[in-house]
Amino acid sequence: MKSLIRIIKFNLGYKKYILGSVFFNLLSSFFGLFSFILLAPLLDVIFNKTDDYYIDLISKPSPVLSFSTENFIDLINYKLANLIVLEGKVYTLLTVCVVIGMSVLLKNLFIYLSSVLVSLLVNKSVGDIRNNIFTTLMHLPVAYLSDEKKGEVISKISNDVQEIEWSIQSAIKGVFKEPINILVFLGSLFAMSLELSLFIVIFLPLSGFLISAVSKSLKKNTKSAQEYFGNLLAHLEESLNGFKLIKAFSNEKLFIKKFKSINNNFISNKVKAYRKADLASPTSEFLGVIAVISVLWYGGSLVFEGKMQSSYFITYIILFSQLIDPLKSLSKSIYDAQKGNSALDRIETIFEAKKTDFILDGKSIKNDLVDSISFNNISFSYKTDKVLNNISFKVSKGKTVALVGQSGSGKSTIANLFPRFYDLEDGSIEIDGVNIKDFKLSNLRSMIGLVSQESILFNDTIENNIVFGNEFNKDKLVEASKVANAHDFIEELANNYQTNIGDGGNKLSGGQRQRLSIARAVYKNPPILILDEATSALDTESEKLVQDALNKLMANRTSIVIAHRLSTIQHADEIIVLQKGLIVERGSHKILIKKNGIYKKLVEMQSFE
Ligand code: ADP
Ligand code: MG
Repeated sequence: MKSLIRIIKFNLGYKKYILGSVFFNLLSSFFGLFSFILLAPLLDVIFNKTDDYYIDLISKPSPVLSFSTENFIDLINYKLANLIVLEGKVYTLLTVCVVIGMSVLLKNLFIYLSSVLVSLLVNKSVGDIRNNIFTTLMHLPVAYLSDEKKGEVISKISNDVQEIEWSIQSAIKGVFKEPINILVFLGSLFAMSLELSLFIVIFLPLSGFLISAVSKSLKKNTKSAQEYFGNLLAHLEESLNGFKLIKAFSNEKLFIKKFKSINNNFISNKVKAYRKADLASPTSEFLGVIAVISVLWYGGSLVFEGKMQSSYFITYIILFSQLIDPLKSLSKSIYDAQKGNSALDRIETIFEAKKTDFILDGKSIKNDLVDSISFNNISFSYKTDKVLNNISFKVSKGKTVALVGQSGSGKSTIANLFPRFYDLEDGSIEIDGVNIKDFKLSNLRSMIGLVSQESILFNDTIENNIVFGNEFNKDKLVEASKVANAHDFIEELANNYQTNIGDGGNKLSGGQRQRLSIARAVYKNPPILILDEATSALDTESEKLVQDALNKLMANRTSIVIAHRLSTIQHADEIIVLQKGLIVERGSHKILIKKNGIYKKLVEMQSFE
């Protein structure tokens, strides 16, 4: 029940659809009831009563209409008797059949109208959820996605949202449709026979309890099935990303084996879940039939005792059988709501992350660097091990500081901390004496241009990849591409700036991709630059073009350059040598060479290559 309420709460924004569908449900329920109530007199006309009975009936005064089924039935009987005496039985039979047909038609029309509203409601709610997840996701810090598996996130936004869609659909039925049907039909049953109905009321809760007991045990299983599916997606994503590499190493077998093993876990988990779900339907059917049989037995004996007319009894049984479907559907919706509930739980981890992992936004705004950037005693660890330890350095406006050191020494981490992809533990980073935490995040990031080793491009046109969210200006676009040495190759492409570059830019060469990344940084025109091994993935030929582009980009800007090839940073104003998160040497190229220490060793190692 709790799950049901939680699912319904999600839809309260669309009250008008709920109210509309409740209205149509009432109408459809009424016409459904009406078509069945006509059955009793119809059966009487065909099987039971003699003409004398009807003549006798209409000689009495007409019953007045009031809010009781019995009275209502008496009234219908009276009208029918009139019709039989005046027009004959065959004509009456036909009339009753037509009226039943019409009310069934109306019942179904209203069911349809109600479903239209429900589907509007469901799709809008689910659309909101999907938008919410994506929006939250986009605002989460970088750290979230390096911890969370991407496949799991994808599974959440696809499968879990689907699960929620079904559960909302089912919950709306369970709360706003079936109870109406149940109340209307149960009410008329009570009106027809108090004794028999009291007898029934004992059976319903019993079967309801058994059915919900079966469905409860299902919850646990579906939870882990979703987790397995998330793993499956994660593996799929990884395999597709590394497709080329897997082929190059002829490592297909291993990946297939791993996929099969995850898939097998998933399958066996699903099978278990299905087994239980399959059990639910026969169980409830059997319980339903038991209930009907009991009513047949008890009601039949009432007829034998003359406490109930046989045509009433048949109508009663038919009305009663109409209760079974709504009851089943109600118990199913409770079960579905539970499944939807675990899906909501999984999705909520994303919303929760927003609360805990959120990077606090500051207020300060600044458009240009006036004096310097300073890193003051910064320390950082991703998990437990310290990756940076007490690092301090300063970059004055217009100067270039280079970070060098073996891989894993913490260079990229410094590049990640500056735009606040991660937040510092100790120490501070300041721009003109203002802590970066005090800046508005979007403002801070607009001041920084980042070019990293792997060029990150999107499946879109060249133009959109370069402009990337900034204001469009054709002259600026061409100018930026020229600075980045990209204009010439773009001009040679079939659609120039409108060319689509494919997934991750895979229709371009590595050098071309990197020059597009540089063009993007030039176009953004930030006062501060961070280059993280921007040329290390390139061959010497394209490296020259890219390096030339970088030099143009760095002119008149304040830069932090993480260099792979030390020859490219010889002219840096200061070179900082990192080792295991500590600064071990610093100074200009000349000084460091003279010092004959770690830097010199690194330079010598490279001149061998
Ligand atoms: P560099 O760029 O100098 O090669 P990094 O700054 O990338 O080095 O990495 C420094 C250390 O931090 C390495 O030991 C690396 O394993 C660790 N590290 C890097 N990124 C993460 C991350 N997202 N989560 C956990 N540890 C990380
Ligand atoms: Mg690095």
